Amino acid sequence: MDLNDTPEQAAYRVRVAAWLHEHRDEAPALDLPEEELVPAQRAWQRRLAENGMAGVTWPEEFGGQGLGPIESVIVGQEIAKARVPGILDVIGVGMLGPTIIAHGTQEQKGRYLGPMLHADEVWCQLFSEPAAGSDLAAVQCRARQEDDGSWRLTGQKVWTTNAQFSAHGLLLARTDADVPKHKGLTMFILPMDAEGVTIRGLRQISGEAEFNEVFLDDVRVEADAVVGGPGNGWGTALTTLMFERLTIGSGAEGLGYRPERFVELVARDEHASADPEVRRRLGEISIELLAVRFGGYRLLSMLQQGTIPGPEAGLAKVTTVSAAIEAFDLVADVLGPDALDEAGETAYGISFLPGLKSAGGTEEILRNTIGERVLGLPPEPRLDKGIPFSELRAKEREAVAK
Ligand SMILES: Cc1cc2nc3c(=O)[nH]c(=O)nc-3n(C[C@H](O)[C@H](O)[C@H](O)COP(=O)(O)OP(=O)(O)OC[C@H]3O[C@@H](n4cnc5c(N)ncnc54)[C@H](O)[C@@H]3O)c2cc1C
Repeated sequence: MDLNDTPEQAAYRVRVAAWLHEHRDEAPALDLPEEELVPAQRAWQRRLAENGMAGVTWPEEFGGQGLGPIESVIVGQEIAKARVPGILDVIGVGMLGPTIIAHGTQEQKGRYLGPMLHADEVWCQLFSEPAAGSDLAAVQCRARQEDDGSWRLTGQKVWTTNAQFSAHGLLLARTDADVPKHKGLTMFILPMDAEGVTIRGLRQISGEAEFNEVFLDDVRVEADAVVGGPGNGWGTALTTLMFERLTIGSGAEGLGYRPERFVELVARDEHASADPEVRRRLGEISIELLAVRFGGYRLLSMLQQGTIPGPEAGLAKVTTVSAAIEAFDLVADVLGPDALDEAGETAYGISFLPGLKSAGGTEEILRNTIGERVLGLPPEPRLDKGIPFSELRAKEREAVAK
């Protein structure tokens, strides 16, 4: 793959960089108080969308730019270079919008995609439940159809990022308990202000309450809330999960962390840069981050040729997240408590990044998948007389509940 911009891409990059340079003062400061931050981030996403920097790969008919993955990476790179935040609704624009584009009806596309892109309506992903995370097909949230075609939803979701300010959620529910678990699922669009929806924030060590528990008590949604048809929820969910995998960690720049940034952070302690152990750790982290960058180019080249990356995309997520965690551990070792004094980047990196080991597929699951499907290693060992690990955990939970 030729890693240089074509003349058209170079011109595009110049246009994007010039706009960002001119408008960077409009970008929100990320240390604003919580109640001011979200409106400011919505306004910034709107500005980016109006100027073609959100939904770069979405088709033009839905407000996107109809451009390729390279242009999307160019926008990401220039946003990182300009040191301004990207869009607020990464989950909506990066994962749920593309799912609706792939599986939604014309009415759903016409109704939801424009407001999503412009952050007039933020979205959340209502997939995980207390007993359905890695084993997502085990969801227990039930949906029952009424005679008039509408549906009634009852159950609990958890870890729902941004639910507290979302207008809609994409929700996976069980509509048929009598068929194999992957077959009895349906995907719904849930208005988050519907009667019977209760949202409870979960505060994290980083101080933020960005994700939530969501309780559904006999919530009514209309027949046209179904995405992809009744019983087809698993296929629809797989589309979302594929975009999730691509969104976290598989971009050419990983999570946006560059080795140079950690060299800068460590250099804040004048002795650290000369310490051989610190230099060794920095070297290892830099190699990992560079490997992610070049692995990302390979995925990008597949996307550009119209190929959907397979399980190898999970490797980028595992490597980016573990390298970034190691890097912030190093920063914490070097700066000591000063690393937490900082209101922004380092405190956030130290406290938030470990959670990404679970988000978007846990490290263990992805390593198993890579081992089995990329390296061709023997399948996951079956523990306890042939019971798979996930079922064993479910049995353990049942025993604890009793
Ligand atoms: C920052 C963050 C944001 C999130 N946002 C959302 C969101 O917006 N919407 C949403 O729906 N979900 C969200 N999630 C939830 C996320 O998808 C789940 O955490 C993830 O699917 C793992 O599920 P779990 O937490 O239930 O862990 P479990 O599946 O219970 O796993 C617990 C541990 O057991 C291991 N394990 C489980 N099964 C196996 C196996 N077969 N083999 C080996 N090891 C195994 C796992 O690797 C893990 O270490 C978010 C999570 C995080 C951390």
